Amino acid sequence: MHDLVIRGGTIVDGTGSPGFTGDLAINGDRIAQVGGKAGPGRREVQAEGRLVTPGWVDVHTHYDGQATWDPVLAPSSWHGVTTILFGNCGVGFAPVRKRDHQGLIDLMEGVEDIPGIALAEGLKWDWESFPDYLDALERLPRSIDIGAQVAHHPLRVYVMGDRAIRRENATAEDIAEMARLTEEALRAGAFGFTTSRTDQHKTPAGGAGARPLRRGAGADRHRPCHGPRRPRYLRHALRFRGRGRRIPLDGRGGARERPPTLVPADRPFL
Ligand SMILES: [Zn+2]
Repeated sequence: MHDLVIRGGTIVDGTGSPGFTGDLAINGDRIAQVGGKAGPGRREVQAEGRLVTPGWVDVHTHYDGQATWDPVLAPSSWHGVTTILFGNCGVGFAPVRKRDHQGLIDLMEGVEDIPGIALAEGLKWDWESFPDYLDALERLPRSIDIGAQVAHHPLRVYVMGDRAIRRENATAEDIAEMARLTEEALRAGAFGFTTSRTDQHKTPAGGAGARPLRRGAGADRHRPCHGPRRPRYLRHALRFRGRGRRIPLDGRGGARERPPTLVPADRPFL
């Protein structure tokens, strides 16, 4: 008797092979059978006309705020995403001092189009440091896995205050402090460091732009998010994965294979 059997779906197994019709069986946190006819399950899902796929890993999201109040993380989870990374593009919400809460909301709204009013209502701000932020994330139950990256802009604002907003260059002392905080965040479980070179990400209020990148918080050591170095960045992030703080599906940790997610076959993948 399997714990879960997903019957008769079109299985696209992620290897590049064409899809095929069959059952998928799961015991505990392990996939026991892919394809063919599976025995009975304690729970069964009829999946005819639907796709059965591995969960999607979305490495570029901006759920930094929503992840602190929404366990479902819609709409990504609706589309079959089972792991998200956020803190991308150099914007995020930690580390932060109380006086800068609105400034970080404004930048997130300005460069990522996330409504500031939703962020202002949803964010509880029960953190200051990046490790505190990870603790706040860990307190919420999850329907999908998450990974947080430490972002350039909040680091600059935290260390430089109004000088960051005025887009002044960082001093050697500023850079040293940002590098220290970056390392603290990585050791606490951040997946990596991000910044942005995209012109669209510069705002009158001061964004994570090109000049801060050159002078920023250990950017050369920790790899930017955008541009041709992204694959190297991803390898870097994966190196940290084993040591990073993982917040798993069931809150117990350690699961390496996860039940695939059903996605209606008539809905496009985005
Ligand atoms: Zn982005």
